[in-house]
Amino acid sequence: MTIEVRNIVKEFGSFRALDNVDLRVETGELMALLGPSGSGKTTLLRIIAGLEWPDAGSIAFDGEDALARGAAERHVGFVFQHYALFRHMSVFENVAFGLRVQPRRIRRSEAEIRKRVGDLLDLVQLGWLADRYPNQLSGGQRQRIALARALAIEPRILLLDEPFGALDAKVRKELRAWLRNLHEEIHVTSIFVTHDQEEALEVANRVVVMDKGKIEQIGSPGDVYERPASAFVHSFIGESIVLPVEVRDGRVQLGDRVLDLAPPETGGGPSKLFVRRHDIAVGPSGSGVFEGAVRSVRAFGPMQRADILLQGVDGDMLVEIDAPRDHSLKVGDRIGLQPQRYRIFADH
Ligand code: ATP
Repeated sequence: MTIEVRNIVKEFGSFRALDNVDLRVETGELMALLGPSGSGKTTLLRIIAGLEWPDAGSIAFDGEDALARGAAERHVGFVFQHYALFRHMSVFENVAFGLRVQPRRIRRSEAEIRKRVGDLLDLVQLGWLADRYPNQLSGGQRQRIALARALAIEPRILLLDEPFGALDAKVRKELRAWLRNLHEEIHVTSIFVTHDQEEALEVANRVVVMDKGKIEQIGSPGDVYERPASAFVHSFIGESIVLPVEVRDGRVQLGDRVLDLAPPETGGGPSKLFVRRHDIAVGPSGSGVFEGAVRSVRAFGPMQRADILLQGVDGDMLVEIDAPRDHSLKVGDRIGLQPQRYRIFADH
């Protein structure tokens, strides 16, 4: 099932929570909506689910107008951050719930319901917990049961809103791999909301980066990490070193000094150079466009992380870089630094 979101606008009073959002999700995709708190992710998810209505725009499921239908008729499975299991029902009955309340004409027999719930519990690998109650489960187990429950009615679309948000870091990490594997097995078109960039990049096949109610970039995890489309995406995903530069007459300058760096295709004037801290080559003094002095070094594994005081950049600026250990850095060394992969975006 494809999802086509067109020009969606949603306002709460005078506040615009979604500003002309366009998005197409292909059949069987696992797409992440990634953005800081308040960027509009949950609002978009709720509109797709039919729990909220947009002020303008359209939503189509496989080309069919979804806004003409209420939430119950959209056949969407939903998993929220906070466990939404019924406390007075066993795990088995929680998963069976959606099947038991289906209209009589499509409702399955008791034997079929038992079979389906058994299969779903096997799918989330928790068959042995069928007779327990939610308060006898760990947080991670509850979310897996919540997912089994959402899948019970064979939804055409699965929407997950920070499903692992309330869990500790270790369990979150385990569930990421688990969710990816599960999705490979069931292949239902899924949208997954998170503000955790690592989670988005690890789980999803495409990532939508949102900020202030707008989509900043849509791309594969590799795209958004390696080729960020804006200054916002570069600083939100992965850590960046940001240096003030100026683009004048097609040249990149630092003060009056012209730097041996490729200018951006568009834009000029005061700009910022963004580079990941492992994308700066370190060599002897004079070997790069920037000069610096090593202030401290921490070596671990194959890398060394160093604080470098850059000279001639907006006064003096301290940056943290990661370099391979083949060129051993020592406190006090004067070094040259050459950004290898970088992006330059105009200041707004
Ligand atoms: P988070 O990661 O914190 O959940 P989010 O990206 O999911 O954030 P939304 O929950 O979609 O963000 O909220 C977007 C903006 O809309 C926020 O500024 C929020 O305060 C506002 N908002 C959401 N729902 C309502 C509402 N019912 N009434 C008024 N403002 C709302």
